[in-house]
Amino acid sequence: MEVRISIVVALVTLCVYVSGLPDVIRIGGLFHPADDKQEVAFRYAVEKINNDRTILPRSKLSAQIERMSPQDSFHASKKVCHLLRSGVAAIFGPQSAHTASHVQSICDTMEIPHLETRWDYRLRRESCLVNLYPHPTTLSKAYVDLVKAWAWKSFTIIYENNEGLVRLQELLKAHGPYEFPITVRQLGEGSDYRPLLKQIKNSAESHIVLDCSTERIYDVLKQAQQIGMMSDYHSYLITSLDLHGVDLEEFKYGGTNITAFRLVDPEGPDVKRIVRDWSLGDGRRKTDSNLDNNTFVKAETALMYDAVHLFAKALHDLDTSQQIDIKPLSCDALDTWPHGYSLINYMKIVEMRGLTGVIKFDHQGFRSDFALDIIDLSREGLKKIGTWNSTEGVNFTRTYGEAYTQIVEIIQNKTFVVSTILSSPYCMRKDSSEKLTGNAQFEGYAVDLIHEISRILGFNYTIKLAPDGRYGSLNRETKEWDGMMKELLDQKADLAVADLTITYDREQAVDFTMPFMNLGISILYRKPIKQPPNLFSFLSPLSLDVWIYMATAYLGVSVLLFILARFSPYEWDNPHPCNSEPDVLENQFTLLNSLWFTIGSLMQQGSDIAPKAVSTRMVAGMWWFFTLIMISSYTANLAAFLTVERMDSPIESAEDLAKQTKIKYGALKDGSTAAFFRDSNFSTYQRMWSFMESARPTVFTMSNVEGVDRVVKGKGSYAFLMESTSIEYVIERNCELTQVGGMLDSKGYGIAMPPTSPFRTAISGAILKLQEEGKLHILKTRWWKEKRGGGSCRDDTTKASSTANELGLANVGGVFVVLMGGMGVACVIAVCEFVWKSRKVAVEERVSSILHDT
Ligand code: ASP
Repeated sequence: MEVRISIVVALVTLCVYVSGLPDVIRIGGLFHPADDKQEVAFRYAVEKINNDRTILPRSKLSAQIERMSPQDSFHASKKVCHLLRSGVAAIFGPQSAHTASHVQSICDTMEIPHLETRWDYRLRRESCLVNLYPHPTTLSKAYVDLVKAWAWKSFTIIYENNEGLVRLQELLKAHGPYEFPITVRQLGEGSDYRPLLKQIKNSAESHIVLDCSTERIYDVLKQAQQIGMMSDYHSYLITSLDLHGVDLEEFKYGGTNITAFRLVDPEGPDVKRIVRDWSLGDGRRKTDSNLDNNTFVKAETALMYDAVHLFAKALHDLDTSQQIDIKPLSCDALDTWPHGYSLINYMKIVEMRGLTGVIKFDHQGFRSDFALDIIDLSREGLKKIGTWNSTEGVNFTRTYGEAYTQIVEIIQNKTFVVSTILSSPYCMRKDSSEKLTGNAQFEGYAVDLIHEISRILGFNYTIKLAPDGRYGSLNRETKEWDGMMKELLDQKADLAVADLTITYDREQAVDFTMPFMNLGISILYRKPIKQPPNLFSFLSPLSLDVWIYMATAYLGVSVLLFILARFSPYEWDNPHPCNSEPDVLENQFTLLNSLWFTIGSLMQQGSDIAPKAVSTRMVAGMWWFFTLIMISSYTANLAAFLTVERMDSPIESAEDLAKQTKIKYGALKDGSTAAFFRDSNFSTYQRMWSFMESARPTVFTMSNVEGVDRVVKGKGSYAFLMESTSIEYVIERNCELTQVGGMLDSKGYGIAMPPTSPFRTAISGAILKLQEEGKLHILKTRWWKEKRGGGSCRDDTTKASSTANELGLANVGGVFVVLMGGMGVACVIAVCEFVWKSRKVAVEERVSSILHDT
């Protein structure tokens, strides 16, 4: 039994020994003279594998190098054949597309593994090819993901050659037909890119995707800087994976966003070691290459290093399963290497970590699952700000705090150009006997606001008035903005601080901070004229109808009382109580008495007449109830009518304005107020807009001041549609004017800045801080109610309210008139009564004297 086991063990040992690799495994490397780093990486990888006995314990790799010109495919084929004749197990390179395809077809024929490390859009799936370069389509998707993550709406692609367009085809495809147009420009042949860059600058594009060879990146960026395309508002996405090899020192402080992907992390321990080895390299390597000063590893160089390791790993795995021999092959004979396919298959299923991350291939043999670092240029150089991988897409690792700190650092070294216009009380010229210069010339809410923000964030600023003095409106034909908006878009100003309303159109073109003031459109009109109190204002508490009804009720009740008293037997009294059987009975409710009784109770005075029958008492009771309610209602209403001043205003709201044509109304030309009416879907505002547009002379004004002047001079014939905050300012100082009606909309003023400005968050934060600290409120009070004549109309209102309780003769004069009228009528009646009685007496007496005489 023991003997048998020993035989089996001996056989197995023999087998393992027999299936070993040759002692020396030759591998061929094809390089172009310019690719010295590739060659160094190749040699270095071979050296590393030979020194590390764990990968190929019994064999050594031997690098067979052939150099050739990148265009010379004839020599390339010759050199491959030469390598094959010497018996190689794989061929690495070359990098040029011209020569690579020839090498590839020879390798395919001879079934020799061919390892490539170059970007190849042709996506060939040849059986003998293993390309370690990330799958082009997947790489292209990474750019799409990044552009989407940034939400770039429009951008310009600058490409160098057709390959660049292929590289970015996913980006071109992802851009929908209804989105903003994207521009594609080709970098010219020469070395002067300024004309092209100037055209891009003039198109006001600030997002640029740059696809050119790593060697040209510096020149393009430098020339962009020279023509002013490296501002805080420009962003560059560079498609090269080797941006960390470009000297970006000059661009670090410009604030421009320069972003790229990288495949090799220079901070990785392996990469660091390699860089150290190369920079301290032995004499041979120093003479072989110019890497001494280079401390970065190009993606393709790292891929070459990984390729050799991948090959060695696959060979190691294959070694355990079969006996491998490597024989020289001749290009002239139809000879193949029997282990070629197996080795390639092993390479495609191997999973390993290299300098370029995890190396694995999909079922088609492409490296489509890979990860990239997103790097961004900051003051400290290129910094990793996130990662991208084919499954999860973009993942930014830079925290909000880090990004914010970086921006604040940039801000602190900046002098912002602040565009504004003269508009009270936001920015006004200071009254001074001395000649003022610079920022000292101006004062106002906006000036104080920017001063407070600059104190929080620590930047300097220069105030500059917009040359045309306009807020900013879009000319729909030329598609050009004017005013402060133009200043921002032309990057002549960094901020626009004024009473600039945040509108949809403007927000599409520039960036706004959060609003620092809220407002709405309202109507500025002259104050209603005070009506002199009505002499008969005591009649006002009841309407004319009620007065007429009351008079009718009075007469009706009196007559009814008279009639019922006639009917009722209990109202008939004995006039001579001593005579129990009188001939005549008397009724106190004559018509006149009935009228007297009812008027007496209506006036709350009563009379000596009292009803006795139930029916008449019923009438009296009900009448008293009626008078009780009527008098109380009258008294309650009277106070209000006597004290309230009657104001006569022809308009109370925008609807009133819309309904009439006598009073003209207008707004600031090309401002957000006019735009509100122009774009409104509400029928009243549409009507108002067509009225304003068709009015001649024009009802639009060039400034708010002009609008206010027109209202004052118009004396009620002109109303100005203005923003509530400005109205508030005007009516604090001009007591003839007032705000009519409420607000028609609700919006805010914000600080505007060029599109994609990195400072928006920081400045919004500062505004929020000022708001929470109550500073904005203090500023508002200062400029609205205190400075420059603020509060002058408040005295009038307080005076008016304190004297409101006293009633003048004008208010109650009517009562005196009625009293005097009543007295007069009484006198007239008295005279009439006297005359009537005397005539009656005279007639009677004449009759009696005649009788007497006869
Ligand atoms: N503040 C306004 C603007 O930004 C001016 C207005 O239309 O009343 O255009």
